[in-house]
Amino acid sequence: MIDVVHGKTMKDWIEAYPLIKPLVSGVPVTWFNPGIASASEALHDVPLAAAEVHDASARLARFAPFLAEAFPEVASTQGIIESDLVPVDGFMNRLCTLYGIDKTVSMHLKMDSHLPISGSVKARGGIYEVLHHAEYLASTHGMLADGDDYRLLLKPGIRKLFRQYRIVVGSTGNLGMSIGIAGARLGFDTTVHMSDDARQWKKDKLRAHGVNVVEHRGDYGEAVEQGRRQAQLDPACHFIDDENSTTLFLGYAVAGERLKRQLEQKGIQVDARHPLFVYLPCGVGGGPGGISFGLKLAFGDHVHCIFAEPTQSPCMLMGVYTGLHERIAVQDFGISNITAADGLAVGRPSGFVGRAMHRLIDGYYTVPDSELFVALYLMHETQGIQLEPSALAGAPGFSRVLHEREGYRERIGVDAQAWQQATHIVWATGGGMVPAEEYRNYLAIGRNALLRPL
Ligand SMILES: *Cc1c(COP(=O)(O)O)cnc(C)c1O
Repeated sequence: MIDVVHGKTMKDWIEAYPLIKPLVSGVPVTWFNPGIASASEALHDVPLAAAEVHDASARLARFAPFLAEAFPEVASTQGIIESDLVPVDGFMNRLCTLYGIDKTVSMHLKMDSHLPISGSVKARGGIYEVLHHAEYLASTHGMLADGDDYRLLLKPGIRKLFRQYRIVVGSTGNLGMSIGIAGARLGFDTTVHMSDDARQWKKDKLRAHGVNVVEHRGDYGEAVEQGRRQAQLDPACHFIDDENSTTLFLGYAVAGERLKRQLEQKGIQVDARHPLFVYLPCGVGGGPGGISFGLKLAFGDHVHCIFAEPTQSPCMLMGVYTGLHERIAVQDFGISNITAADGLAVGRPSGFVGRAMHRLIDGYYTVPDSELFVALYLMHETQGIQLEPSALAGAPGFSRVLHEREGYRERIGVDAQAWQQATHIVWATGGGMVPAEEYRNYLAIGRNALLRPL
């Protein structure tokens, strides 16, 4: 038992921040931030402008012809890396039974789990940052100019240039996959520092792509520190900083305008009487933070973004709740940071995201691994969609909002009618590339967990 954390006794911590008690015991917690503000006001907290998101979107469009040629899996979408938005009524019905909810809701799954090239949400930010860096290097070396066809990046001359440059990242797995695959395809000397919770198949896959994989015995934080250190010693090395990179963040943010278009195409209305609830799995925070920034720019106060974390890795919740952000790690409080949701196994949150998005994120909740596995199994049974455990953290979100008794829905102006007219999006962040054997294991755990009460 830990007695003193950051100079305060546990008793004092719990007195000041009562939720620390259930958090430390691993009991699921839901917290709706009382400090949320209107989008028009709180968007100023983010040190990035809408124009920068448009710029990122335009950069991705410039790279589309290159991507279509370099990656056959995006040829059919002309080089645009985007995922489907699909209704999941069967899944939602089973969740309603599970959570004792008698009125169904409108639920969609945002299938970043099946994004091309790297099969996770990291295909947004990670690949974008690699492209951004490639464009910068090629243009500063006079090898790429405005208006050029970016397919020329596949030419030997530019590849020879890129081979002299290194890209380094620390990752629990999926970020490494995106950066590794994209970096190696462009010709960069790419190194991924991986934590011990990273899955073996991810390491194998990266090595097959010609990526250097360095394995660390410690957790994500340690892998990142090693990567950072390697990069500092080497001016030809670009370190991709998952915790602080605004480039990554902007790559994620492009999702906002894209989702808006998808909803319009489906004839799904979003306004004050038809609110949009989006449940996003959160690790270090860059992915869900960037996406939420894009969503707030696209939908303003009509979108409600809620972050989901494993009970053993509630780093963003604790960082924002205590206001200590990156200065605290869940381990400081004796929380293990051990979870089957490897994409979310992060003990220390991004302070950049926690601060910038503080008044824009409606709430945070934690989910036990057993519940992730049950949802994984139900998703397979009802929709035939393959996900990894992390990707299901958003599934319980609607029940947490419905069952809250703190007056959150009233505060955001969502009455019974607006609730019935709302659209709920479970952001599925990974799983499309999980090997069959591993996936069968997940299903077996989920089936067993379903037999026990949650
Ligand atoms: C990385 C990841 C997340 C969360 O993204 P962060 O930027 O770490 O918050 C969620 N799900 C999966 C599967 C991931 O790989």
